[in-house]
Amino acid sequence: MSMAGAVRLTVSGEVPVRRFEPELNTKLEEPLICPECRAREELALTAAGQDAHIQCPNYHQWTDPQVTAATVRQMLHMMNAGRPVMFPGRHITESLVPLLDEDRALSPPPEEEEDDEATEGFTDRERWLFGGLVDGWPLFAHCLNYSRKLAIHALPADGDLFERLYPGAGGNAVDAHMCIVVTALAMYEAAYQARTTRLKPIPLASVKAALLAADLRAIRPPSERPDYSSHLRVTDVARLEHAGHDEWERWRQAAIDILDYHVADQQVRRRASPMAGEVTVYECCDWVDVLEDDMTWYLTPGPAN
Ligand SMILES: [Zn+2]
Repeated sequence: MSMAGAVRLTVSGEVPVRRFEPELNTKLEEPLICPECRAREELALTAAGQDAHIQCPNYHQWTDPQVTAATVRQMLHMMNAGRPVMFPGRHITESLVPLLDEDRALSPPPEEEEDDEATEGFTDRERWLFGGLVDGWPLFAHCLNYSRKLAIHALPADGDLFERLYPGAGGNAVDAHMCIVVTALAMYEAAYQARTTRLKPIPLASVKAALLAADLRAIRPPSERPDYSSHLRVTDVARLEHAGHDEWERWRQAAIDILDYHVADQQVRRRASPMAGEVTVYECCDWVDVLEDDMTWYLTPGPAN
């Protein structure tokens, strides 16, 4: 059993858990109870690696399908934030992905005038994106949101990612942010390779292939507005341009590990062994309840026009 990202927290009162009762066809809330001594308070919840267990004050240990590693680390996050600790259930209701405190302006266009002749014909990429917006947003904005959901889901569930990316556990906040940006670039490239703007059915395997093969650092997805050069913010363009080899490889590896986590997770959820290629972007995001999809986490909204 992996001990990566091990956390332990003790809850003074009861821990109410919602369970589906098939005979009543409804969900009932009941506290966690030690199967040996019936203790229901002062329970210690532990997460290590991708596993979790419960211990009562009399040192009896057991596991419960409702108490996952992601559950325990989300509760720890609520505690760290000084908020009341609510049992999140099996869905992800807390984002442990840090937001960087930095300028969120999108990058302005380069100062040199565009060569008119060069823009007369359409490139393959321009034809692919013809029509511009998908549901009112540039395609890359959707890539960023899906990518963020993948990270929000994986980070509390996998101890190794938790240690590397969650600042409360000594993780690197810039790495957490940049692996989302890098995954979004790979998703964007995978969509281009398939000549589609529908992201949900894209296999994670295609995103991983782009992470391994494409020159992602050079991709600048267009913004919907002419006064921005791309839909990347200034700080991210700078990081993509100036990151050293080790730093870039850390971001890319975290992105790969998040995708690998999701493929393995889906195999468990389906109780089967689908080919990795069958796991799509959409089904992995379905479990994330937390989330403002308005992009304010990424950019400063521009002036209305
Ligand atoms: Zn007990």
